[in-house]
Amino acid sequence: MALEELNYQVYACRKCRLWQGAKHGVPGEGPLNAKVMLVGQNPGADEDELGRPFVGRAGKFLTKTLAEYGIKREDLFITNIVKHVSPQNRKPYPDEVAACLPYLTTQISTIKPKIIVLLGASAKETPRVEGIEYMEIVHPSAAMRFNNMREKFRLQITELSKRINQLS
Ligand code: URA
Repeated sequence: MALEELNYQVYACRKCRLWQGAKHGVPGEGPLNAKVMLVGQNPGADEDELGRPFVGRAGKFLTKTLAEYGIKREDLFITNIVKHVSPQNRKPYPDEVAACLPYLTTQISTIKPKIIVLLGASAKETPRVEGIEYMEIVHPSAAMRFNNMREKFRLQITELSKRINQLS
């Protein structure tokens, strides 16, 4: 499936309850030939407003930290495990994750990234595909809030940058 078609399906999605409180579906963004995919939990209020992933405080922190380690946001495909905002930004329920996962599965099989970076615990539900390297790292909103998490996050981004440089 072309990603454009998938995006329209996300905008019109009614497969779980989350669309009811949302302004925009947020399918994700980035180049079709991205070697690295980032997967977060679900869009927050700023992302819901703009229809784009990781554009709020955590997103700006993520983009800035990546840049400090020579990783350009625009080279990555950035998405979430769940494509709609949740009430009070709560963790998505298992049935919401299950309803949304086919979109992520299609994004992975279309883009065929070499590395998938899972941001925080919720993103660990991302389907595992043979041949793709998965890195589980601290969610940027936790890294922003807690010093020890920020240190860990920086080490993990250093490691990501090394792995990217090793890609052929
Ligand atoms: N947090 C997420 O997990 N995803 C976003 O898109 C924004 C904040």
